[in-house]
Amino acid sequence: MRERSDALTLDAGDPLAGHRGHFVLPDGIVYLDGNSLGALPAALPARLDAVIHEQWGRDLIRSWNRHDWIDLPVRVGEAAAALIGAGPGQVVAADSTSVNLFKLLAAALDARPGRTVILSVEDNFPTDLYMAQGLARLLGGEVRLRLVSEPALEGAMDEDTAVVMLSHVDFRTGRIRDMAALTAAAHRAGALALWDLAHSAGVLPVALDAAEVDLAVGCGYKYLCGGPGAPAFLYVARRLQDRIASPLSGWMGHVAPFAFDPAYRPAPGVCRFLCGTPAVLAMTALEVGVETISHAGIDRLRAKATALTEYFITLADERLRDHGFELASPRDPADRGAQVSLRHAEGLPIMAALVARDVIGDFREPDILRFGFAPLTTRFVDGWDAVEMLVEIMETRAWDRPEHRRRPRVT
Ligand SMILES: *Cc1c(COP(=O)(O)O)cnc(C)c1O
Repeated sequence: MRERSDALTLDAGDPLAGHRGHFVLPDGIVYLDGNSLGALPAALPARLDAVIHEQWGRDLIRSWNRHDWIDLPVRVGEAAAALIGAGPGQVVAADSTSVNLFKLLAAALDARPGRTVILSVEDNFPTDLYMAQGLARLLGGEVRLRLVSEPALEGAMDEDTAVVMLSHVDFRTGRIRDMAALTAAAHRAGALALWDLAHSAGVLPVALDAAEVDLAVGCGYKYLCGGPGAPAFLYVARRLQDRIASPLSGWMGHVAPFAFDPAYRPAPGVCRFLCGTPAVLAMTALEVGVETISHAGIDRLRAKATALTEYFITLADERLRDHGFELASPRDPADRGAQVSLRHAEGLPIMAALVARDVIGDFREPDILRFGFAPLTTRFVDGWDAVEMLVEIMETRAWDRPEHRRRPRVT
């Protein structure tokens, strides 16, 4: 029989344990949703306060130059680049993941004239699919989104494929795709590869340059801890930058925004994918988030996340199987991101009952209870406590109450 003290021993031996103090986490909360909204970095409120009061409040518009506000998209992009295997000059922070997908999909289609297909998989994250559908509609039916099942993916890459759009880590199951192999397959078909790093940036090593990825997007508010609705980022491989352009040709992507030239001329490099004025407060928050997690080192983050998910799966196997839970994530840790997903037919009310007891994960249709193990803010004992709470909820049938079946607007 395992004991809670085993978990505490694992925490005591965790070389990253001290990093938890770099975040604000209320006592008594078991937070297993850092994959959906990263925790608040402890240094963030003071930094934002300084930007608000000392920069905006005192230096006003001079802050664009005096405090380098104008460089925030590049500066934050470079900090993120270091986490995703991207050399300098290829990443900027901007807009939302959805908007960045639109910009890069349109640019990819432009770069592959005559090819008419955006290829993806059926279970990709919906916003990725919706953005492709919206772009296809805008292009008047010349282009279509083709969705295939995972096993059919490589076979579906053909001479019509302009771009293959995939998530590195599946948001439902946490399964990691082979980025290098699929990118190479896309290239053999003459297509570009666009990767969504929402569930991998900041938590596992990503090697965009080494895998010869063409384009990528990622999310600022998940593992990067940039705050709710944080700016996202985008990557354009250097070899493509001067051959493709953004369809959202805003002035911040112009070669000389303050020349006020009536004609759009794209900036050299990845900055041509900027659009409007950067959200300085939100970018500042993201900068603090990226700094806070970068100190730990991506290999150590990965090692801890793997240990946490292994431990949680061991406990779930022992304690939850008799209650009808099934593992939806890969068993092999090499194939698994920093989350563990469990299937249960009553997943929605079970997760609601869990959250009501301050054990916070989330529910994903149709039957997935998702537990994220952001490595700097999650302890082994959190995994233990979550499993014990689940057992209690199942044994007492505490989940089976009408209030837990009400669907909140955000799940
Ligand atoms: C969270 C997430 C997004 C988020 O998109 P936003 O436009 O930033 O809201 C996009 N793609 C994937 C795979 C995600 O997990």
